[in-house]
Amino acid sequence: RSNLNPKYTFENFIVGDSNRHAYATCLAVADLPCQDNFNPLFIYGGSGLGKTHLMQSIAHYILQNDENTNVLYTTSEIFTNDIIDAIQKNKTDEFRDKYRRVDVLLIDDIQEIIGRERTQQEFFNTFNYLYEAKKQIIISSDKPPKEIKSLEERLRSRFEWGVPIDIHAPDYETRMAILRNKAELNGLASIPDSVFNYIAENIVSNVRELEGALNKISVYAKLMNLDITEDLAKDTLKDLISKETTSLVITPDLILSTVADHMDISIEDIKSKKRSADIATARQLVMYLSRNLTDRSLQSIGDTVGGKDHATVYSGIKKIEEKIKEDSQFNATVDVIIKKLSPQG
Ligand code: ADP
Ligand code: MG
Repeated sequence: RSNLNPKYTFENFIVGDSNRHAYATCLAVADLPCQDNFNPLFIYGGSGLGKTHLMQSIAHYILQNDENTNVLYTTSEIFTNDIIDAIQKNKTDEFRDKYRRVDVLLIDDIQEIIGRERTQQEFFNTFNYLYEAKKQIIISSDKPPKEIKSLEERLRSRFEWGVPIDIHAPDYETRMAILRNKAELNGLASIPDSVFNYIAENIVSNVRELEGALNKISVYAKLMNLDITEDLAKDTLKDLISKETTSLVITPDLILSTVADHMDISIEDIKSKKRSADIATARQLVMYLSRNLTDRSLQSIGDTVGGKDHATVYSGIKKIEEKIKEDSQFNATVDVIIKKLSPQG
């Protein structure tokens, strides 16, 4: 119990489309462990998406229902160290006893036992023992079983006995909800929505980083005795976000700066009301690329180019579509810009 984080509960877990299925399944297993179809329960998803949070929520929940249930939350790391310790002290019987006494075994980050032959062996034996005894086994991993390379086949196939469930990256609304919730939990009152919005629009694929960004901003504000504003957020997160945008996501803002740079037109001009042909084309190109390379609405794209309405954005996109068809040189330019925008380029 000591190795559980008291904050990792179902109550503190924000549910959205990206994790609804995982959440519901974890809750069902916590409510009624040891059902055949969810044993083992195998949870997988990218780093920072809530696997550890959900696993520990299950542990808390079961202990709350019945303190006498023997719940053991562990990680591959701890499991391995326990084995090494046991071997060193000649206490392998104690080790086995510790892991076989449990009613519910949760083992986090199973991908880390790869390449550790003895750990895999011991885990295989533990798994079989508990499974035979109809005890609940819950495993997390950053990949689905079939993608954990060089995992022993007999272990892999066991992981697939239950139904593997996955967690995805949260959508914008879920990111906003998580941020507001974290702020509340951490007693950060009076953060304007524009700050949450800025973070949620720029950090898209990792809840841990989302939280980290919020922390960073609030620590900085405290340090400098400043109010938390969108500008402060931008300032604090410069490095974090420029890294994320180039390595992971394309945003209208990134498109705006890339087009401006490539066409040698200032961002101010693109955002302005100026109608000269080259400026208008650059502006329309930002609209067109934003429409095709991001999931933003016409309205939100209009905001990026200086507050144009959705009808203007729509007709701008149509103009570029025509121009691409008619003008092969322009078409080539667009290709070059797209290459610049792609994460690899
Ligand atoms: P993982 O184990 O998948 O790498 P964690 O469970 O450690 O990720 O989650 C990283 C951080 O993000 C934790 O602080 C966790 O509380 C938080 N977190 C992740 N998903 C959610 C969510 N849906 N609601 C609230 N907090 C979340
Ligand atoms: Mg984890």
